[in-house]
Amino acid sequence: MKHHDILESHPFKNEDFKIKIHEKGYVQLENVSPRICPIDSNNIKRTGDYIAVKAARVSFGSGLKSIEEDDRLIEFLMKNNHTSPFEQADITFVIKAPFFVVKQFLRHRTAQVNEQSFRYTDMSEKLEFYYPDMRSKSLNNKQSSVKNICDENENFQIEMKEVFEEDTNIYTKAIKNGCAQEVARCVLPQSTYTTLIFKQNLHNLLHFFYLRTDETAQLEIREYANAMLKLIMPVFPKTIECFINHRIDCVKFSKKESEILSNLFKDNIDITHLRKKLIELLDSESHSKSFKEGLVFRFDKLCENSNKKN
Ligand SMILES: Cc1cc2nc3c(=O)[nH]c(=O)nc-3n(C[C@H](O)[C@H](O)[C@H](O)COP(=O)(O)OP(=O)(O)OC[C@H]3O[C@@H](n4cnc5c(N)ncnc54)[C@H](O)[C@@H]3O)c2cc1C
Repeated sequence: MKHHDILESHPFKNEDFKIKIHEKGYVQLENVSPRICPIDSNNIKRTGDYIAVKAARVSFGSGLKSIEEDDRLIEFLMKNNHTSPFEQADITFVIKAPFFVVKQFLRHRTAQVNEQSFRYTDMSEKLEFYYPDMRSKSLNNKQSSVKNICDENENFQIEMKEVFEEDTNIYTKAIKNGCAQEVARCVLPQSTYTTLIFKQNLHNLLHFFYLRTDETAQLEIREYANAMLKLIMPVFPKTIECFINHRIDCVKFSKKESEILSNLFKDNIDITHLRKKLIELLDSESHSKSFKEGLVFRFDKLCENSNKKN
């Protein structure tokens, strides 16, 4: 079987696999595994998705099939939470981000991380800071922010710059006078840039994306997570498509919520008629048998109470 290097055709190859975040930060795709992917008997260059397919089929002693069958398998794995095949892929990023963002990255225990040391490095000539645009406190979410609406904070940026300059002066002076880097660094603010190498397997990285691309996550880490997602999309296109379909854009209802909806249906809708319409609609479109059956099954489940009574 012939093979190809998946990174050779990567759309960000000419940018060194890097996406800039604000003025000084970035996310860079350092490496992926599998990187050498097969070219199948139909001369189709397979993407990194192939490893999850191969891992899932190892239980049956079979490997790759047609691209359509393999894509369907990835869809099945993602939909049914068969997660271990996605653990066969690894992705490594280099990330340059402010301390407070890095702190959020480090909460993801399933990542392997190495971080620049401010104990070993004299940062006097290298200190860089992130200057956020002013955002106001969200009125309906204690930890969230919204577009700036308070004029009273117009000097925040200027004052922040002054503080960072003062921090830099104190740090540099202390180092010059023989202070250890591990002590001098204590004056550095949360906005100081640092660099880390962050590696996760694909399953855990998808979980990271699920949490950190969500609008409840802080804007800055969302920007990093979205850039990381963009960088791996060409490497694992089907997996990412299914992840977005079954995790990110998927709506789930709790038992209580289902009951409320079911009661609403019961009181306001002719369920039998709606079910018939749903089946007609599905038949008129090109869906697989299992997709149709699955959706009708969930529709019936949602309407269970009202169906029984109608
Ligand atoms: C919007 C948002 C707000 C947050 N706010 C806060 C906050 O206010 N304070 C705060 O402290 N944290 C906060 N966090 C961090 C959060 O609690 C998690 O630590 C972080 O998101 C990492 O998630 P994780 O543990 O699922 O990921 P990982 O550490 O990568 O773990 C992945 C999965 O592996 C399993 N796992 C890993 N380690 C263990 C273990 N030791 N035991 C059992 N299962 C394990 C779990 O199933 C876990 O979901 C916040 C996160 C988000 C996204």
